[in-house]
Formats: sequence, structure tokens, C-alpha cells
Amino acid sequence: MQTAFTNFFGKRAKYPRFKSRKSAEYTTSGFRFRDGKLTLAKMSEPLDIVWSRPLPAGAQPSTVTVSQDGAGRWFVSMLCDDPSVKPLSSNGDAVGIDVGLDHLLTLSTGEKIANPRHERRDRARLAKAQRELAKKAKGDGANRVKARRKVARVHARIADRRRDLLHKLTTRLVRENQTLVIEDLTVRNMVRNHTLARAISDASWSEFRSMLEYKATWWGRNVIAVDRFFPSSKLCSHCGALAGKMPLNVRTWTCASCGTAHDRDVNAARNLLAAGLAVTVCGAGVRPQRSSPGGQSAMKQKLLRREP
Ligand SMILES: [Zn+2]
Repeated sequence: MQTAFTNFFGKRAKYPRFKSRKSAEYTTSGFRFRDGKLTLAKMSEPLDIVWSRPLPAGAQPSTVTVSQDGAGRWFVSMLCDDPSVKPLSSNGDAVGIDVGLDHLLTLSTGEKIANPRHERRDRARLAKAQRELAKKAKGDGANRVKARRKVARVHARIADRRRDLLHKLTTRLVRENQTLVIEDLTVRNMVRNHTLARAISDASWSEFRSMLEYKATWWGRNVIAVDRFFPSSKLCSHCGALAGKMPLNVRTWTCASCGTAHDRDVNAARNLLAAGLAVTVCGAGVRPQRSSPGGQSAMKQKLLRREP
């Protein structure tokens, strides 16, 4: 609520609206977990659970949270220690990651990761469900509830698919790279554009970032978020020359000073990477957000060797 009001008074967001969150937390005395069966306090039978994945071998949950989402689905999440999660041996690889609307992510390596395949259709479905809901009069009890559930279900489906993709991506990126440079998107930037595509993209960006950060902590990697005060799209990542106007529809361009042909998004990702690495070397110009000392010094040494 504090964040919501701070953003409201900072004119970055609308007046906060109430959002009910149905969930209950059980500590060790409130549940029993035996032979893979979960029984909550005051229940005689174990819960019938569809597992998203098995618990790590030998894990004993310390907290169990039961919640219900807007689409009416019930979830049980268990907090446990996984002894198999250990820092990976460090490598010197680094990657810059740029987000966009036509591609989910663009990497400084030149790789582009497309948006989920079904999303355009899902989005159309969501827009339709939202129109149906808007048509229902305020007092129209049962039908309105039904329409709202429908919107929530479509939302949940889009979010589920996105999350699944984001988990696979973040796991891969964190395992492959010692240093990951992302852009620090501010709230102000995020509310400027109100399209549905933008809203979904923004929501998954914050989810992507948080997954990247906690997985980096698990495996001993560094995530650096750089402020986007520099013109990452217009700056030539090869020679550093600044190009002129660059409207959004310009996807490829050629640098006037060095003649390098650029893909707009790959060039931006490369500039992000360079800015992030500059932080690890001299700490000037941009603001690093999170990094662990170990891997960072490895990166520093590598860079210093390359540029005597
Ligand atoms: Zn150039």
C-alpha cells in the first residue's frame, strides 16, 4: 500500500484500488507433510493436490501457503530448503538483455526470443472478455460475476504461459552467464503507454527481473540493472557515434561514421552490456543495483587483462 500511495503522489500511478488477496499461511504446527501427502490443521483427509513439480529429495516444508487466484483456482505453495541449489562455478560470460514489444527479449549475442506463440490470440480473447464485462451493468449481479471470472480466467492463462516461458529463459540465461545486464525500467516509464500488449509486457518484465535476481543469488551470478539515461538505440555499439532521430519503426540502420549495419534491438542490448560492464570496472556513470562481490571481481580481472 505504501508503494501504491508513493507512486500515486509521485503522479506515476492512479489512485490505488482495493485488491483482495485470499491466502492463508500455515507454519509447522498447522500442517502435516508425510509420504508426499499434505494435511492441514483440522482436516482429517490429506489434500488432493495436482503437483506442478516434485519437492526436492528429502525436503521438509517449513511453511505452507494456501491461496486462491482471481480465476477461482486454489494453490498450495511450500517453502523448503533445496540442498541441491549451490553456486555454480564462475565463468566469464556476460550478456546484455533488452526488452521489447515485438520480441520478448533481445540478447547482446544477437539472439532474439519471440513472444509466446499463442499470445496474439489470447490477447484478442482477453479484449473480448473485457468488453463483455464492461457491458454488464453495475447492479447485474450473477452475470457480472460470471463475466469477471471469464476475464480472470483468460488473464490467468496468459500469465501462466508467460511464467512458464520466463522460468525456462531465466534458468538458461543465469546458468550460462556470470554477469547479466538489464535495463532498470522505472515506474514512470512503464505507465506511459496504456496498450494491452504493453501492460502484459511490463508485467512480465518485472517478473523476469525478479526471477533473474533470485536465481542469480542461488547460483552465484550477478545481475546489474543500469539506468536508461543514455540513448541505447541511437548509440553505435561499435564506434560510439550517435545517430540522428530513430523512430520506433526503424528496425535496422547503418552507422554513418563506421559503416556498421545494426539491428536496432541487438545494438541496444550491446550498449546495455557495455554500460553494465563499465559499472563493474569503474563504478561511474550508471548505478549498479545488485551484484555479488565474488563474480564481479572475476569479471573485473578479465576486463583489465583485455584492456591494459
Ligand atoms: Zn559506428
